[in-house]
Amino acid sequence: MTRLPDPSVRPAGLADQFGRVARDLRVSVTDRCNLRCTYCMPAEGLPWMPKAEMLTDEEMLRLIGLFVRDGVTQVRLTGGEPLLRRSIVELVAGIASLAPRPKIAMTTNGVGLERVAVGLKEAGLDRVNVSLDTIDSDTFTQLTRRDRLADVEAGLRAAADAGLTPVKVNAVAMRGINDESVADVLAWCLERGYELRFIEQMPLDAQHAWHRSDMITADEIRERLSRRWELTPLPAAERGSAPAERFLVDGGPQTVGIIASVSSPFCAACDRTRLTADGQVRNCLFSNTETDLRGPMRAGATDDELLDLMRGEMWRKRRGHGIGEPDFVQPDRPMSAIGG
Ligand code: SAM
Ligand code: SF4
Repeated sequence: MTRLPDPSVRPAGLADQFGRVARDLRVSVTDRCNLRCTYCMPAEGLPWMPKAEMLTDEEMLRLIGLFVRDGVTQVRLTGGEPLLRRSIVELVAGIASLAPRPKIAMTTNGVGLERVAVGLKEAGLDRVNVSLDTIDSDTFTQLTRRDRLADVEAGLRAAADAGLTPVKVNAVAMRGINDESVADVLAWCLERGYELRFIEQMPLDAQHAWHRSDMITADEIRERLSRRWELTPLPAAERGSAPAERFLVDGGPQTVGIIASVSSPFCAACDRTRLTADGQVRNCLFSNTETDLRGPMRAGATDDELLDLMRGEMWRKRRGHGIGEPDFVQPDRPMSAIGG
């Protein structure tokens, strides 16, 4: 049996009991979205967070600043759809003015990115991941329940033109919907110089309809891509805490990533922590608990008191997400309200 360190000797910083230290903060800036991806949200949407419960920009920046003070070096803005937060450019500028300045990235569905890519770059955004599961317009509409493929394509072009590079594309494959066309998405990305990463579908949909047997595994994706290209795995050392296993495509230099979050979890190397739009810290995507920072902050907590709450949450991080184990319970909070 593994012996755990004594909690009374908890080290400073965002450490947990298994020796991991959080460096990568994911901030969900809104739970709202303009798409309805079937693996994420029901067609009718979700009851959105009331405005009063959402952190203001000032509150968000104060908390992000504390995370940075405690060792976070990369901040990723996500949601919901982060571009739906009206002040998103100002928020990026605020993060860019923190010292030390963290790297700033964003995960977006790309709708509306065309309009704002230059502004985001000028405000300090370093990189962007755009989610795109198919390049077929009908399949896109079926999958996201919105006819917006052209907007996403325009957003991707604008991101590349603005220098938000390398532009990465995230794709989820769903059985019977887009799994037969994963190679077409890769071909499309290779042609345009976008770096594609496939992510296994996880049990984080609001509808709780995920079944492991329906999930397209990383192995299946690799097998499908290997019918068209030779994939050479990059050495594991180049992976670090990054979850994607990367492959050179036909000898490179272009690569494709495959993230086996479910079938081969990367929890042992996880360096992530999360802040939700309503001010909860979460130590894991799959956590069933979270720590409220908004209440104490609005009640006048000091920076040190807030840091103590953040550290306490991270210290409780479990060894792994436990999907597939008998006691696994899908979190109540859906992906769109946690921040993927
Ligand atoms: N709306 C933005 C977007 O779609 O990029 C940001 C939020 S979204 C929740 C972040 C990422 O999570 C997207 O790449 C999306 O494809 C992915 N995602 C959502 N639900 C998922 C699920 N059940 N399993 C795996 N990935 C999921
Ligand atoms: Fe919206 Fe992103 Fe969820 Fe799709 S995956 S519904 S774009 S939050």
